Amino acid sequence: MSTPGRSGLIFDEALLFERSRVDRPGIPLEDPEVPCVDPREVIEPKLVRDDIEGFPELSELDVVRHFTRLSQWNYGIDSGFYPLGSCTMKYNPKLNDLAAQLPGLVDLHPLAPETAIQGTLALAHELEEALAEIAGLDRVTLQPAAGAQAELVGMMMIRAYHRSRGDDQRVRVLIPDTAHGTNPASAALTGMEIAEVKSGADGILHPEQLAPLLDERTSALMLTNPNTLGLFETHAEELAERVHAAGGLVYLDGANMNALMGVAKPGHMGVDVMHFNLHKTFSTPHGGGGPGSGPLAVRNILAPFLPTPVIHREGDRYRLDNEFPYSIGRVHAFFGNAGIYLRALAYIRTLGAAGLTEVTQRAVLNANYLLARLREQYDVPHDRRVMHECVLTDRRQQATGVTTADIAKRLMDYGFHPPTIYFPLVVHGALMIEPTECESLESLDAFIEAMERIANEAATSPELVTGAPRRPKVRRLDEVRAARHPRLRWSAPDAES
Ligand SMILES: *Cc1c(COP(=O)(O)O)cnc(C)c1O
Repeated sequence: MSTPGRSGLIFDEALLFERSRVDRPGIPLEDPEVPCVDPREVIEPKLVRDDIEGFPELSELDVVRHFTRLSQWNYGIDSGFYPLGSCTMKYNPKLNDLAAQLPGLVDLHPLAPETAIQGTLALAHELEEALAEIAGLDRVTLQPAAGAQAELVGMMMIRAYHRSRGDDQRVRVLIPDTAHGTNPASAALTGMEIAEVKSGADGILHPEQLAPLLDERTSALMLTNPNTLGLFETHAEELAERVHAAGGLVYLDGANMNALMGVAKPGHMGVDVMHFNLHKTFSTPHGGGGPGSGPLAVRNILAPFLPTPVIHREGDRYRLDNEFPYSIGRVHAFFGNAGIYLRALAYIRTLGAAGLTEVTQRAVLNANYLLARLREQYDVPHDRRVMHECVLTDRRQQATGVTTADIAKRLMDYGFHPPTIYFPLVVHGALMIEPTECESLESLDAFIEAMERIANEAATSPELVTGAPRRPKVRRLDEVRAARHPRLRWSAPDAES
């Protein structure tokens, strides 16, 4: 089968220690023309080693080939389809990297005076305005370094807002069971209490389920929309009306704005504050552990509580304002992760309003195409139109003992990164697939073909699936043991206990 680019690799490679041959030279150095210095004369003698026991001896070519092969095992969006649901592992145009790497931008000293960074402040301000427009809200801060940090900052602002009105008792945050897992964690960090709201059998939140929980202690509803089932919360507006009527505010987890931007504005659905994940929707790779950027957009009622410094425009000059009496304070060194928001601005400017809308349309179309084809062989727990991702389960494969984890492992044999599995928690055995807007029909079809083959294998020869993966050097790891008793040093096989 032709999977795009990945199927030819065999993931096996001896360690350098295992390849070592006694006295094989690495780089032969000629006698230097300058006098040699005994290192013991310049370094504390006990720190100087003449030899490292067991140090591998290899030629330069052995070493270069070893690391080149290892580098090719690194699965990334630039090498293959990466359908990790909720994470938006999409292609990020290289042009935007170049824009963010212009010397005038990257060489700035973070402590440079305002007068010397007018250009960067102008770009930051322009991005704030663009994100406010996309959100349908009034003001934006670029400071939070991730989605989860933005949630924390947003909840701190909401708490500050209630306190400023003497509403100290508003400490209860309502969070649906389909919200992203960071939501309750971030809200709890502010010291507020969390109440879970059950969503309906159709996977979305209904006003009747929320209403009994609303009272004078309600601080906010924290809504992920689209929710983690990939479903649009169709009652968003009415939910917001009810929360507002009870004196609370609405926080939107907008990490997955490639489902909405250019089509629907959260501000028009009653949202008071929301975050973006620039490292998902807006052209920064996601999944490498950072850095990220999670700008926060707010309605004017929350603007006094924005973190400092706030960027002010005065005519054609920009100023960093630290004198904000109600501000929750500083939440990030300097004013955010500039390289990431420069990429985002380049992305927004190159696509324009029509391009951003098309991104959303394609992301949603691709997810619905996958769902329409895969539902023939996989169970769909909430069978309705999805947004940017879809959720399947292993229910139909269970008869032969094949589970979600097996399906994910088998996908590796077919050259694909597995989707997100066992999340969201409200779905048993979930496989959460997000194709993103970038993929061609051919790569979607190749993935579908692999999933269909796996479903057929699960029915006819399940051991192929339960025994996967076969291509990697190590197949199934004892993950618990690896975490509890990690072995971090290599030892020669004969020395193993
Ligand atoms: C990724 C994600 C987050 C968390 O964002 P981080 O930048 O990883 O902290 C929050 N909510 C949703 C819906 C997400 O997809």
